[in-house]
Amino acid sequence: MSEMEPTPDARKTVLEKYNKGLVQIYTGNGKGKTTAAFGQALRAVGQGFRVCIIQFMKGRKYGECLAAERCLPNLTVHLSGLDSFVMRDHPAPPDIELAKQGLDLARKAVASGDYDMVILDEINVAVDFKLIPLADVIDIIQTRPPTLDLILTGRYAAPEIVDLADTVSEIREIKHHYNAGIKDRAGIEY
Ligand code: ATP
Ligand code: MG
Repeated sequence: MSEMEPTPDARKTVLEKYNKGLVQIYTGNGKGKTTAAFGQALRAVGQGFRVCIIQFMKGRKYGECLAAERCLPNLTVHLSGLDSFVMRDHPAPPDIELAKQGLDLARKAVASGDYDMVILDEINVAVDFKLIPLADVIDIIQTRPPTLDLILTGRYAAPEIVDLADTVSEIREIKHHYNAGIKDRAGIEY
């Protein structure tokens, strides 16, 4: 399996071969969008990429964030929300303010050149809830450095964002343990 071993110049090889980053979207009503994005981050970090994740509408360090702090210096995670539900029709002022801060962070992370991959977790929901303008997210996608890998997650991905992506996966619920009363398990939900 020697061809599977990470090589220090994997990023360089990708740039030489493709010279193009990919935009991916994980959306849909089933479980697995955020964890898919973190899985992609883990894969990229293993290959020597520098990855930044901005989590919209989240104010708690999930297990992935704790693992990154302990073990993965090339994976930076920012939280841009409160640790409480945002009400779709009545978001609290701090929900809007923190989402705007997340958007600013996203712009800076994308433009900085400090990262090879940027993940905007739950940004589709932040747009759908009107915490941040769709036009600003489109602008980030369209003006990104061409070699940056960009991932956007969350239910209700706007068709305009779907149009701009290279890969879009819709994760559909078939069943969920939530409906059997099993809620918010450490190691599964957070
Ligand atoms: P995960 O973070 O586990 O990958 P996700 O990002 O796909 O899930 P979100 O839509 O962001 O899911 O919802 C966050 C939480 O809601 C998750 O912890 C998940 O277990 C739960 N969840 C996801 N899909 C469903 C569902 N269909 N019914 C009930 N709860 C769900
Ligand atoms: Mg999620």
